[in-house]
Amino acid sequence: MTNHKQIWEADKRHWMHPWTHFESFQQEGSLILSRARGSRLWDSNANSYFDAVGGLWCTNIGLGREEMAETIAEQVRQLAYANPFVDMANEPAVALAEKLAQLAPGDINRVFFTCGGSTAVDTAFRLIHFYQNCRGMPHKKHIIARRGGYHGSTYAAMSITGKSGDRIAEFDYISDTIHHLSCPNYYRAPEGMDEQQFCDSLVEEFQQKIDQLGADKIAAFFAEPILGSGGVIVPPADYNRRMWELCKANDILYVADEVVTAFGRVGHWFACEEMFGVQPDIITCAKGLTSGYLPLGATLFSDRIYEVISSGDSDRYFASGFTYSGHPVACAAALKNIEIIERENLLQRVVKVGAYFEERLQTLRELPLVGDVRGKRFMMCVENVRDKNTREVFPDSLNIGKWISDRAEEAGLIVRPIVHLNVMSPPLTMDYQEVDFVVERLGQAILQTHSDLVAEGHL
Ligand code: PMP
Repeated sequence: MTNHKQIWEADKRHWMHPWTHFESFQQEGSLILSRARGSRLWDSNANSYFDAVGGLWCTNIGLGREEMAETIAEQVRQLAYANPFVDMANEPAVALAEKLAQLAPGDINRVFFTCGGSTAVDTAFRLIHFYQNCRGMPHKKHIIARRGGYHGSTYAAMSITGKSGDRIAEFDYISDTIHHLSCPNYYRAPEGMDEQQFCDSLVEEFQQKIDQLGADKIAAFFAEPILGSGGVIVPPADYNRRMWELCKANDILYVADEVVTAFGRVGHWFACEEMFGVQPDIITCAKGLTSGYLPLGATLFSDRIYEVISSGDSDRYFASGFTYSGHPVACAAALKNIEIIERENLLQRVVKVGAYFEERLQTLRELPLVGDVRGKRFMMCVENVRDKNTREVFPDSLNIGKWISDRAEEAGLIVRPIVHLNVMSPPLTMDYQEVDFVVERLGQAILQTHSDLVAEGHL
């Protein structure tokens, strides 16, 4: 199938894409990508784009690296698959588990490999049940998460997710034991509250939830250190640490969902401790773990949890896991990816270039439509509004984010639309000139969209 039109038609006929509207997909089809080098993508019509989304927050070292291709090919030749169950191991998986334990904060030294982020969250959810049952606390099962949080697409992960736009009515969710607190988005805080008061109110809300359910009933709190697809929300200063303090005081496990934030996205291996001073009990990660070269996720957890679940009943075993847990080729790719991040000092680069990216993006606030520009380093977002003073948004049906990203795409830039937002998470290799390119093209796309909206009578 080499003909572009044939591929485009076959895609519409046979591939049901994740998260895709049936009707618009049938009308518009997909942008079919065929090649990538670093941050640059080419489609099947040979048009080229700068990928400011980094795939889906994941192509941290950039695509098309020869070294990665060689590592993957060599591992396929050596041992393309290995059974991970019971008493079998493989060298890349062992080496990666050891490396992750070194990089992870505190006493997080245990690694359970999964197929991606959702299965890492799902495994955390099951591990929490297992832990509470093993320690004789079978009633301590309630989960607290936040509205606006995204944790994945399995039944449990989507039930923990609190994004209203994703929790559509046609699906079912676990609702008796999973609860959602307010989203820590200061841009949408109640009128008249300063950031400190807003933070106090969020912590107070958690305390009230603990009082209402009883600490002896609450198993865990799930939180992304910076909320990703919920709108790149950096919580108020001290919020993450104070929520963790409440967890510690009430014997509630703290799960840091670092599927997006780990492996350099915000300049650290893991953001929870280095950026926010939180030492979680469990970390879920994926994406930047292999920079998207192969699917892999991991649930990392503390020695303390391991000791509880592994001692006591000698017949007990962790009856959970996947055919592809600890896949040798994916683990070899992850090890090489981590080596490249270290060798090229990409974390330091994100700190430096990220400061410039934040500063340059903030200039877009002067443009019409731009209500907020927020995020940290290589994890940024622009929120588009109808009225900058009242922060009123356009109706969802107008799909303003998509409107802008379509204009940007025509100008060679990929940014991710999420309803009225445009989200960016570029490869960690982005340089200063590329920052200028992204900001300039996104600015033009916003101005063009504004003119379109005026011309079509929406403003
Ligand atoms: N958690 C977070 C914070 C995520 O952003 C995502 C994916 N965007 C997931 C979990 C799910 O990961 P995956 O799509 O690899 O299953």
